Amino acid sequence: MSNEIKSNESDTGRHFLKQWIAEDVAAGKTGGLVVTRFPPEPNGYIHIGHAKAICIDFGMAREFGGQCNLRMDDTNPSKESDEYADSIKEDIRWLGFDWGEGFYNAADLFDKMYEIAENLITSGHAYVCALSQEEWKTYRGVPTQPGRESPTRNRPPEENLALFRRMKAGAFAEGEMCLRAKIDMASPNIHFRDPVIYRILHVPHYHAGDTWCVYPMYDFAHPIEDAFEGVTHSMCTLEFEVHRPLYDWVIDRMDEMGLLVVRNSVKIRPQQREFARLNITYTVMSKRKLLQLVQDGHVEGWDDPRMPTVCGLRRRGYTPAAIRDFCERVGVSKYNSETDAALLEYCIRDDLNKTALRRMAVLDPVKVVIDNFPDGATDHAEAQNNPEDPAAGTRQIPFSRELWIERDDFMEVPAKKFFRMTPGQEVRLRGACLFLCTHVVKDAGGNVTEIHGTYDPASKGGNAPDGRKVKGTIHWVSAQHAVPLRVRLYDRLFTVPDPLGDDTKDFLAFLNPDSCKAVTAYCEPALADAQPGDTFQFERTGYFCADTRDSTPGAPVFNRTVTLKDSWGGK
Ligand code: ATP
Ligand code: MG
Repeated sequence: MSNEIKSNESDTGRHFLKQWIAEDVAAGKTGGLVVTRFPPEPNGYIHIGHAKAICIDFGMAREFGGQCNLRMDDTNPSKESDEYADSIKEDIRWLGFDWGEGFYNAADLFDKMYEIAENLITSGHAYVCALSQEEWKTYRGVPTQPGRESPTRNRPPEENLALFRRMKAGAFAEGEMCLRAKIDMASPNIHFRDPVIYRILHVPHYHAGDTWCVYPMYDFAHPIEDAFEGVTHSMCTLEFEVHRPLYDWVIDRMDEMGLLVVRNSVKIRPQQREFARLNITYTVMSKRKLLQLVQDGHVEGWDDPRMPTVCGLRRRGYTPAAIRDFCERVGVSKYNSETDAALLEYCIRDDLNKTALRRMAVLDPVKVVIDNFPDGATDHAEAQNNPEDPAAGTRQIPFSRELWIERDDFMEVPAKKFFRMTPGQEVRLRGACLFLCTHVVKDAGGNVTEIHGTYDPASKGGNAPDGRKVKGTIHWVSAQHAVPLRVRLYDRLFTVPDPLGDDTKDFLAFLNPDSCKAVTAYCEPALADAQPGDTFQFERTGYFCADTRDSTPGAPVFNRTVTLKDSWGGK
C-alpha cells in the first residue's frame, strides 16, 4: 500500500472513499441517504475480488446508515443466465450483506434507456454510424492526435431517428450500424471520441426475451441505472477511471432531460470513484479465465475448492468473517498491486483457531505397537475440544495397543533438533501417555513398517510422573478404532505468483499438477459424524472442512482449508 494512503488513514482513520462520502454527506448532496450499489454482470460466479467490491459497496452504505442496491448489470445478453444471478445473490447473503428492497435488473430499464437514446438523437447528441468496427477504430485515432469524424456525424436528427428505429426493428445485421454519442473527436480521452452507446445484437436476452435486438453499451447504461436508482456514490475498479468523463456526460444529459431523482428536495447526481482491483498471488481473478478453467475441465466446477470464487472458498472451508477480515486488511487504495495469498490464509487460520473443534487424524500413517499395553484392551484419553474455547468441552478418544502416527513424526536416525519419535527418545502421545521407542520392524526394502516400544503406565494424560522433560508431542489414532476417511490436500492452483505475467506462455502452462492430492487418513471415531460444512483443526496438520458435495452420512470427505502454519516460505 502506498504511503499516501497510509498517511490518509492515520490522519483521519478513513480511506479516501470514506472521506469522499463524508464530505458529500456534510455538504448535503445525498438528500439524507447515502445510496451505493454492487453491479455484477450475471455472466459468472463471483470471486474474492468481487467480495472486496461487495465489502466496500455494502460497507460504505452501512457505515453511513445508507442503502446498497444489488443490481444485475445484465446489458450484454450473450453470456448471462439466471444460474449466475442466483449464485451471486446466495454468495452476497452468505458474506453477510443485505440489499433489502434494493434489487434491480438493468434490463428493466431497457425501455427508458432506449427513450433517452432517442432524446439524445433529437437533441443532436447522438447519431447513427455505419462505420465497421475496424473503420471506427481507425477513425477514432490515437490519444496524441485528433480522430476523424464519421462521414455521418452531421446527418440531420430526423434521419438518425428513422435509422435508429429501423435498427431497433431489426432491419440491419449485427455490426452494420451503431448509435454513437456526439461528443468530441479531438478529446485526448479516447473514450470521449464519439463512443458507441447502442449496438445491434440479434440475441435474445435471458430476461427480456427477444424484445430487443439493440442493446446499450455499459458506459451508457451504467450511469442511467445509477441515476434512476438514486445512487449517490458509485464505486468501481480503476479501469473505469478513464470512463468517468463519459459517465458524467450521460448524467449531464439526464439532468437536462429532467430525469435525475429528487430526494428531500435535493437533486441526486450520482458520482463515480475508482479503487484498485484485488489481485492475489498464485491465482487468476477474471471471470473469463475462471470460466475457461471450468469449461476445459482443469477444475471440477465453479465451486471447486481450489477456485478463488466465493462458492469455492466456502466449500474449501473459508468463513464469511475471514473473507471480510481479509478485505478489510487489504484496504482501499488507488494503486494496483498483488496481495500475497498468505494474507488470506492468515485470516482464515486466525478465525478458525478460535472456533474450530480439534480432532486427531493421521494423514500419512505408520504403525506403532506398544509392547507393554495389553492386547485387546481399550483405554481412553481425554482431550479438549478447543483449548481456545473452554465452553467447547472435552471428549474421550479410544487408545489401544496399536496406533497410527504420522510417518514424518518418526526418524530412525534423528536429524539435529528432532524431538519427536526416535529410538531411545521419549515422546508424548498427546493427551494419552509417554512412549519410548525401542526398535523397529522393516520390510525387505528397508522401509519401517512397525515401530515398537513401551509406554509409562504412570504417565496418564501425557504428564511425566516425576516431572522429567519430554520435548516432543505427537498426535496418534488408535488403529483398532481408526476410521479411514478421504482427505483432499489442496495446494495453490498455480505454480507461479503471477500466472498471467508471462507474455510468451498461456496461464494454463502454470497450473499446479499437484494442487489436489487425495489421501486416506486414519481418523479418530468422532470425525465420522462430521456434517457437511463442519470445520475442524486436525491437530498439528491443519484446518479441514467436511465437503458439502461429496460427503455421505458416516463418511465425510474432508477438504484441507489451510495448513496449520505458513509453510510457503520454507517449502
Ligand atoms: P472480471 O474482470 O472478473 O470478469 P468484472 O469486472 O467483469 O470482473 P463485474 O460483474 O462487472 O465483473 O463486477 C462487478 C463489480 O465488481 C464491479 O464494480 C467491479 O469493479 C468489481 N470487481 C470486479 N473484479 C474485482 C476485483 N478483482 N477487485 C475488486 N473489485 C472487483
Ligand atoms: Mg464487467
